[in-house]
Amino acid sequence: MSDIINILPDSVANQIAAGEVVDRPASAVKELLENALDAGASEIQLIVKDAGRTLIQVIDNGCGMSDADARLCFERHATSKIHHADDLFSIHTMGFRGEALASIAAVAQVELKSRQKDNDLGTQIIIEGSDVKEQLPCTCPIGTSIAVKNLFFNIPARRNFLKKDSIELSHIEEIFKRIALPNFKVSFSMYHNGRLLYDLKSSNFAQRIAGIFGKNFNERLYNIQEKTEPVSIYGYVVKSEYVKRTRGEQYLFVNGRFIKHPALSSSIERAYSELIPDRTFPSYFVLLEVDPARIDVNIHPTKTEVRFLDENIIFAILRAATKKALGQFSLATELEFNPSTEIDFTPAPKGYVAEQPKVSFNPNYNPFHSSRTKSSADTDMYKHFFDNIDKSGDEKNDIPEQLPLYEEPEPQPKSTLSETTPINYQNRYIITTMKSGLVVIDQQRAHERILYERLLAERENGIVAQQLLFPINVRFTAADSELLNELLPELKRLGFIIAPLGQNTFVVSAAPAKVSDKDIQNLLEQTINDYKNSMLQKFSDRDKSICLSIARQMATKNGTPLKSEEMQGLIADLFSCQAPNISPSGKKTMFILTEQELAEKFK
Ligand code: ADP
Ligand code: MG
Repeated sequence: MSDIINILPDSVANQIAAGEVVDRPASAVKELLENALDAGASEIQLIVKDAGRTLIQVIDNGCGMSDADARLCFERHATSKIHHADDLFSIHTMGFRGEALASIAAVAQVELKSRQKDNDLGTQIIIEGSDVKEQLPCTCPIGTSIAVKNLFFNIPARRNFLKKDSIELSHIEEIFKRIALPNFKVSFSMYHNGRLLYDLKSSNFAQRIAGIFGKNFNERLYNIQEKTEPVSIYGYVVKSEYVKRTRGEQYLFVNGRFIKHPALSSSIERAYSELIPDRTFPSYFVLLEVDPARIDVNIHPTKTEVRFLDENIIFAILRAATKKALGQFSLATELEFNPSTEIDFTPAPKGYVAEQPKVSFNPNYNPFHSSRTKSSADTDMYKHFFDNIDKSGDEKNDIPEQLPLYEEPEPQPKSTLSETTPINYQNRYIITTMKSGLVVIDQQRAHERILYERLLAERENGIVAQQLLFPINVRFTAADSELLNELLPELKRLGFIIAPLGQNTFVVSAAPAKVSDKDIQNLLEQTINDYKNSMLQKFSDRDKSICLSIARQMATKNGTPLKSEEMQGLIADLFSCQAPNISPSGKKTMFILTEQELAEKFK
């Protein structure tokens, strides 16, 4: 038999390895930004075109490379950052594997220019699919510029697999934030298709957070700080009233590196238990410093996972520090966010003509009439209805939206609905009796159902928008702004009058009557977030997903005490819904115990 094994050429080996390191434009961005930091840059510029498909360029003013190093850096396992296996336990740089540039060069057209400070001339290299096309001396500033063009030009399958630009861009932005946040002393800017999205000057951590997430973040956070032997902790955690229903801004860093660590995250989240509603999550920005010898960052090639030697102690300290921040500062210490006396007023871009917002209203709306088409009804009807309720107990997500409908009943006064004065148990459940038995209602889910159906029905006529006394400006990340632009027509039908001002800022001049001014930014952020998630889950009906999101945010939360009339009103409204027994997200809103079932229990 002849020999059949051969060694793969470097270009092929690199392309295979590239799959691990560069799976989308954002991962190339991560590697290039990390290299710029490792080069000691104090200013880093990121330039992206077409969400990274056409161009990703990182320009730094770091140490630069010699002619020979500029050639060598594209070889696999070429690194200046470690020399021996022992060095793995004292890593102070972001990179150390020497894989990134080799991988990127295997799947793109790369142009590198670099100059060290003692040299008058720099060096320029053009490399394409691992092939060095040319290397020439050139004039260029001190530091390094690497332009990655046409990523995956030689792997069409992977190129076609890229998501649409708004999604790829939001991945890039996320990486940019993860790197810019902990390195607040370094100036960063980011451009997309010629537009400046971020311009972050050298600052402190709090200012960097505000620079990325908007100035209104300063009222939302408490400082957290703790210096101990195994770990030192510094950062900010959100006040309990600003928690979100999704894990939004959760940033944990170890020695300047963004990490995902479910156990550490839950140490922070547990500090909030009992302070915040179920299934809500705090935002946090926490920097941990740990002796590099006592962590292992080498367990995953993309390096967002780490292992700690003193895991349990670190969890406990982090949790205690968070608790302390939440308790100690709840009486009003604000952040040191560069207190500024300027009013935060974003000037309108040239050519923007301010328009008197048009407020639409429904001329048939009568506030003294319940606007429901099917109003509260006679209790016998519910007996029939309750037969449809799944009494098996478990929550189901796949309950059909439409339940068998009952006949249009004669309107009845609301008070006939529950036979006794309802009780608000734990400020969460409404307990009442009806002909068919003892009814227990989850107040939040019930209210979500009511609002959801109301929003869906009323958007047809246009919801009554209320003009704000003072229009408010809201600001989002670039990717979120693009999404918000897409959502403006739907939001208008739901009673929000929002106009773009440019630079990721919008002015809200009207909102539905029940939304308070201070909730608007949060509500829109959450709606965009939910919309992103629904896009990922291919939720097809955009209108419905927005109504659902807004209903959830406007609903009375568990833990809110309700007056007797409020409970009566809620019960009546719930039972005039089309699908009263499930929340819009498919959870049970109530259950009923019949007299027989009770009797059973006492047997
Ligand atoms: P690693 O960062 O793991 O060492 P890379 O492939 O990312 O591997 O980079 C290889 C080497 O190229 C680095 O170790 C460094 O010496 C050099 N290098 C890469 N980018 C830069 C830069 N922006 N400035 C100076 N040197 C750089
Ligand atoms: Mg690197």
